[in-house]
Amino acid sequence: MLDDMLDYVEHIRQRPVWQPIPDEIRAPFHEALPDQGQALSEVHQIFMTSVLPYAVGNVHPGFMGWVHGGGTAVGMAAEILSAGLNANLGGRNQMPVEVERQIVRWMRELFRFPDTASGVFVTGTSMANLMSVLVARTVCLGKTIRQQGLQSHQAKLVAYTSAAAHGCIAQAMDLSGLGTAALRRIPVNQQHQINIHALQLAIAADRAAGLQPFFIAGTAGTVDVGAIDDLNALSEIAQSESMWFHVDGAYGALGMLSPDIAPKLTGIERADSIAFDFHKWGQVQYDAGFLLVRDAAQHMDAFAAPVAYLSREARGLAGGSPWPCDFGPDLSRGFRALKTWFTIKVYGTEKLGRIISNTCQLARYLETQIRLHPELELLAPVALNIVCFRYRSDNADQLNKEIVADLHESGIAVPSMTTIDGKLAIRTAIFNHRTNQQDMDALVSAVLHIGTNTGANRRAQPAKIHPQTE
Ligand SMILES: *Cc1c(COP(=O)(O)O)cnc(C)c1O
Repeated sequence: MLDDMLDYVEHIRQRPVWQPIPDEIRAPFHEALPDQGQALSEVHQIFMTSVLPYAVGNVHPGFMGWVHGGGTAVGMAAEILSAGLNANLGGRNQMPVEVERQIVRWMRELFRFPDTASGVFVTGTSMANLMSVLVARTVCLGKTIRQQGLQSHQAKLVAYTSAAAHGCIAQAMDLSGLGTAALRRIPVNQQHQINIHALQLAIAADRAAGLQPFFIAGTAGTVDVGAIDDLNALSEIAQSESMWFHVDGAYGALGMLSPDIAPKLTGIERADSIAFDFHKWGQVQYDAGFLLVRDAAQHMDAFAAPVAYLSREARGLAGGSPWPCDFGPDLSRGFRALKTWFTIKVYGTEKLGRIISNTCQLARYLETQIRLHPELELLAPVALNIVCFRYRSDNADQLNKEIVADLHESGIAVPSMTTIDGKLAIRTAIFNHRTNQQDMDALVSAVLHIGTNTGANRRAQPAKIHPQTE
């Protein structure tokens, strides 16, 4: 199994990024619950023929869709160790928890947070953002809100984020019981950053209406274009309005590892909490989300639950309080910290930072290639590692949709799509450390080729008859 996966990673370029799943591959997965076991070698074979070739493809350097990390062989090997140990990181007096605590200390250092800051691994930033809303709610309304619930409360809390924020911020408002109607989605400026003036007006209007502004979520690296909000300005507003300042840094926050990206994140060190993922720019295997909170006491106030079977002792295995389960809703938790710890220790922050810089450099290279080809049009400024563009046409939305689907099915490259100012864009998000200039060239030439030969384009612009074909 290990050999197969090392081969998979080593020879990934020889595979299509993605390929459609044939019906005969899917069909056996509808078989009933097996009452008898089967040889491990047979089950392994099913994995090799029916699962491995039909994954999303984010290990492949041609994968540039959505925001997916590529993982590393080091992280994979660390996963074997943590699976063998089968540690439950809910708490107790064990070194695996100490490994997680070291990551917490490292993240305090990276984000220049105080020694009183806490952190915890979670599935991903969606969960971490939800938890930040819960911490902010408890700080704002007091710990009794956990017993009494929002229904008992008179205050009408309101939160703010930008129109370019990830959908999980609204989901966090939904799941926390505050409701999405209590989230103001503030318009963005030309750089796709939250419009600070509009934010101030919205807060003032809500206060005038008797509502209680309590939470600002800035974004460090928007999903659409990679924009970073003015975090210093947000911090100042939050401070003067006595609001919680959270940063959704899902992918962008780890830009702190890169000397050329870190200055763009200035102000992040002033946040009350930061949510981010090691599984994106950090190259760590899925899943490895993280929540960092400036004040550990506030963090614990939102989640810690004193129950008898989780009682803490001064000695023995029930020692070592506080435990990770005091900092979030999970009790049983896997050893996400280990693959992260291995990745950081084996590569070091300099190399991880260089990988991050390199993805931004590739984005700038792609930008120059787009500018060189008059058929192509850049649709948003390239702030970090995300490039949004399209093939020009009278029927551009339809054509570019077809280009993206054709690209996926070609196996050459997998970008995703988004809408920028009402225009459908081919969105290229470069996260994988394996991606290089060759992959950018292959993408551009495939887009040009498909664009000139695709039905939607031919219908929109009747082909000029070439003299030699007459
Ligand atoms: C990816 C992403 C999320 C969601 O994170 P998950 O790890 O997928 O839960 C939230 N916000 C931004 C800006 C993202 O890029």
